Amino acid sequence: MTRKKQFKAESKRLLDLMINSIYTNREIFLRELISNASDAMDKSYYKALTDESLTFDKRDYYIKVAIDKENRLLKISDTGIGMTKEELDDNLGVIAKSGSLSFKQENEVKDGHDIIGQFGVGFYSSFMVADNVTVISKAFGSDEAYKWESKGAEGYSIEPWEKEAVGTDITLKIKENTEDEDFDKYLEEYTLKSIIKKYSDFIRYPIKMDITGRRPKEGSEEEGTEKEYEEYTEEQTVNSMVPIWRKNKNELKLEDYENFYSEKHYGFDKPIKHIHISVDGAVSYNAILFIPEKMPFDFYTKEYEKGLELYSSGVLIMNKCPDLLPDYFSFVKGMVDSEDLSLNISREMLQHTRQLKLIAKNLKTKIKNELENLLKNDREKYEVFYQSFGKQLKYGIYSDYGSNKEVLQELLMFYSSKEKKMVTLNEYVERMPEEQKYIYYAAGDSIERIEKLPQTELVADHGYEMLYFTDDVDEFAVRMLMNYKEKEFKSVSSGDLGLETKEEEKPSELDEKDNKELFELMKSLLSDKVKDVRASKRLKKHPVCLSSDGELTIEMEKILNSMPINENGNIKADKVLEINTNHAVFKALKEAYENDKDKLSLYTDVLYNQALLIEGLPIKDPVEFTNNICKIMV
Ligand code: ADP
Repeated sequence: MTRKKQFKAESKRLLDLMINSIYTNREIFLRELISNASDAMDKSYYKALTDESLTFDKRDYYIKVAIDKENRLLKISDTGIGMTKEELDDNLGVIAKSGSLSFKQENEVKDGHDIIGQFGVGFYSSFMVADNVTVISKAFGSDEAYKWESKGAEGYSIEPWEKEAVGTDITLKIKENTEDEDFDKYLEEYTLKSIIKKYSDFIRYPIKMDITGRRPKEGSEEEGTEKEYEEYTEEQTVNSMVPIWRKNKNELKLEDYENFYSEKHYGFDKPIKHIHISVDGAVSYNAILFIPEKMPFDFYTKEYEKGLELYSSGVLIMNKCPDLLPDYFSFVKGMVDSEDLSLNISREMLQHTRQLKLIAKNLKTKIKNELENLLKNDREKYEVFYQSFGKQLKYGIYSDYGSNKEVLQELLMFYSSKEKKMVTLNEYVERMPEEQKYIYYAAGDSIERIEKLPQTELVADHGYEMLYFTDDVDEFAVRMLMNYKEKEFKSVSSGDLGLETKEEEKPSELDEKDNKELFELMKSLLSDKVKDVRASKRLKKHPVCLSSDGELTIEMEKILNSMPINENGNIKADKVLEINTNHAVFKALKEAYENDKDKLSLYTDVLYNQALLIEGLPIKDPVEFTNNICKIMV
């Protein structure tokens, strides 16, 4: 009995979009179906090669594309692993995991062009050219076959069917031509052949088609007779089957790599860079790596899995081999094919093989060099890359106790207070004036906020450049780095800035002694909230700020306390309340100290809370704070 089932909600929306939107690149449906067929054959090929109880004949593995013009049918058959009834339901009833997640993220995009353009929609793309799709499949190891059928958005049905050989036949009922769209071409040998050539040439299995040709009729060449021709049909393999990674770089165009990137679903963007590697040496391998442009939406979550496809002599042995990439390059996509890896190796063993380690080491250096080249030769592109993945490089510096700094430090960039754009550490150090001791940085939520920080005043007054740290990881990363080209990093809010105070601005010794008692009293009024109250050397225009004594800065305190493990906010930087003794407010403080201790207490509280606000730290009791301000006003 056939029963109509509904697609999962989001699949339905996507299908609607696909069917109803005018999409210019419909031809990719064939790429998607062939790619699925090829994946399915990879699975059975691998099984047959590694299981000695199975017979294996290479000739059994092929894809056939067949046209039935009269009935407007296009059939794509494969001899792959097939699908059980449950798999038909699971795999084709909902957009495959990868696709559906992206869809969730993009689901506010209104225009179908964008949605379909941004990610491969796999099997579903067949509805761009067909108004009915049937899938007849027999799974490996099963005696039963099933037919899945759907007309699109309204649902699908599954019923038992007859099919002799294991594998899958997908039949598309091609749409009728419309005013603006020619669908007939998807029933033309020539068009299909060129689509296959364009997108699927390197598929390792033969893609066969019955090709019709014309030849002189036998006997028609005898003298005196008119030449006669006859049509004949012959099964041909349409693709060259040479995998792109085995081809010579010179034969390949940028477009070929981009096609490969989409065909493999490495990403829905266009890669910023591809790296094609052929190595013959201690270990021989071919690899094609890509640096994506856009960050996958799950990139900075624990769902994201890094890894490269791993082939052994052209046979896929692992979809995502994580051991080929260090975590800090986890954004790299692509594949590696090596003759020196055994097909039968288990995942556990694979990790430990010398060959794999050598390849991984090699790739790491290649990726680093290519990124450095990009930075040197195409700054704009590099910045786009850095926008997406810079954070990952900084995590890389921080993790493993800073042991990767040699690989990564030249790749770092930060926003510069002087240049008003991203600069590298090398650029910063190169233009440091001779007397400048440190690489100064200021940390905060955003560039706008940092620019207003009072703590930056003194460094700015000396005319020194500052790096602005806006990512949580930044300060932790440079702590791990410690220095760059022998220059230490220094936070503008740390105790000693290593700057000379101009003679005329130094407080006189007498003043300092005088102020000491005032500051002591303020400190005791604030009890354990601050470690000290001091005359500031860094403030110019602002009356107060907080700085930190010791290892932990205030910015680090904020970040650490925002982590779930420290939720009760038990991380504390040693805070120092700095007072600008050249500011009018200081006179008022002194006056209160001499004449009215209650007022001093009020002023101290208000100033401390102001300093907290400037740092973006929460005020314990906002009501009391505002009431105190009112008290001062009236
Ligand atoms: P994706 O290929 O991105 O996973 P698809 O929607 O194209 O998404 O396919 C969904 C799933 O259906 C595949 O992952 C695969 O498990 C299964 N599938 C599709 N086509 C075939 C096929 N020809 N043979 C076997 N399984 C297939």
